[in-house]
Amino acid sequence: MVITDFYNFEDLLNEEDKIVRESLRKFLVNNIKPLVKEAWHKEKSLDFRYIAKELGKLGVLGAFMEEKYGCPGATYTTYGVVCQEVERIDSALRSFVAVNTGLVMYPIWMWGSEEQKMYWLPKLASGEVIGCYGLTEPDHGSDPGSMKTTAERHGDYWILNGSKMWITEAEIADVAMVWAKDKETGKIKGFLVEKGMDGFYQADLTEKGSMRAGGVGELAFTNCKVPEKNRLPLAKGLRCPLSCLDMARYGISWGAIGASIDCYETALEYSLDRKQFGKPIASYQLVQSKLADMLTEITKGQAICMRLGQLMNEGKATPPQISLAKRNNVRVARYCSRVAREILGANGISLDYPPIRHMANIESVYTYEGTDDMHTLIIGREITGIQAFRS
Ligand SMILES: Cc1cc2nc3c(=O)[nH]c(=O)nc-3n(C[C@H](O)[C@H](O)[C@H](O)COP(=O)(O)OP(=O)(O)OC[C@H]3O[C@@H](n4cnc5c(N)ncnc54)[C@H](O)[C@@H]3O)c2cc1C
Repeated sequence: MVITDFYNFEDLLNEEDKIVRESLRKFLVNNIKPLVKEAWHKEKSLDFRYIAKELGKLGVLGAFMEEKYGCPGATYTTYGVVCQEVERIDSALRSFVAVNTGLVMYPIWMWGSEEQKMYWLPKLASGEVIGCYGLTEPDHGSDPGSMKTTAERHGDYWILNGSKMWITEAEIADVAMVWAKDKETGKIKGFLVEKGMDGFYQADLTEKGSMRAGGVGELAFTNCKVPEKNRLPLAKGLRCPLSCLDMARYGISWGAIGASIDCYETALEYSLDRKQFGKPIASYQLVQSKLADMLTEITKGQAICMRLGQLMNEGKATPPQISLAKRNNVRVARYCSRVAREILGANGISLDYPPIRHMANIESVYTYEGTDDMHTLIIGREITGIQAFRS
């Protein structure tokens, strides 16, 4: 099964990447793709319990973490390829993979104790346990440093108070990676809050116009008692939740190209099939121009992904480089979904075709893990040395 790859980036993948991609693609196309339209239409989340376990068997969760923690021990490029495949199906699926890998497993891997890593990572990698990530609050999104959720130490446990909003898989998560301010020092700390803990509330939001095939919700903590053993001992300060976001942004960069490819391939197939004025619309120069522009943007996005993957594998990627990739590739997806929708004419507004669904999903992707504006400012700061987030 060949997908759009105009510059043969395939040649840069290793054998392991190709094997993982093929088995994942087969599973998704046969088992998940047929369910997405109805899930989106009814706003009934895909069955992530089942999906997590299957992805666990395929060895794609926590792709770049070591085998001693029950993870695949592959590379950041493998993780990128995984994100591209899942987002070709639906952005909610990529959100699920990116949150579990980049926002839950990654902080445990980076700042957890050896005991926490040995306990949580194999469970998350196998899909036995599902995680979510609580950073955003109702009144603090782009500026998480101003968060109001607090943690107060009482001997061998902490008391958390506050709430988190717009949390992917908030309701079904077995464990939430929650960031809260130490009431005494004002420093941000990370806690693994488990489903059912006293004072912990999880709920789904409904009536979304985007990401309707997945769950997004809220977390609330009312004198929620969390043992000290559930605090990540090495997580100190805002830089920790921000570096998790870099990991998720990297996955988005690849995923957004997956959604773009699905839109492009749908538009190409449709344009060859659809006849107007006695000829396929693909034979008209204006349509060819749109297809050429989409392919060009996708190819540029793929080049960014491949190079960024190499830099990640070498431990050399910088946050502004990741921001540039996220910002560019989500813009590409926004563009491709809109142009594909246009090529499909009235059929383009039907959920029988994926572009309108991708278009609505990409609006979330444009906003989360740092809005397009925030990434512009991060790149601007890198170029000029001047920080323009606040006056
Ligand atoms: C589907 C979905 C899933 C999500 N999942 C998660 C999750 O799992 N965990 C989590 O913690 N969060 C999650 N989020 C939240 C997401 O990260 C935030 O929505 C995002 O950080 C933006 O915050 P905000 O919505 O509060 O917007 P605001 O920060 O209020 O921004 C509103 C607008 O103002 C602009 N703006 C803000 N500050 C500046 C500035 N200094 N200069 C110029 N413009 C500025 C922004 O770019 C934006 O256009 C999710 C969001 C969505 C939509």
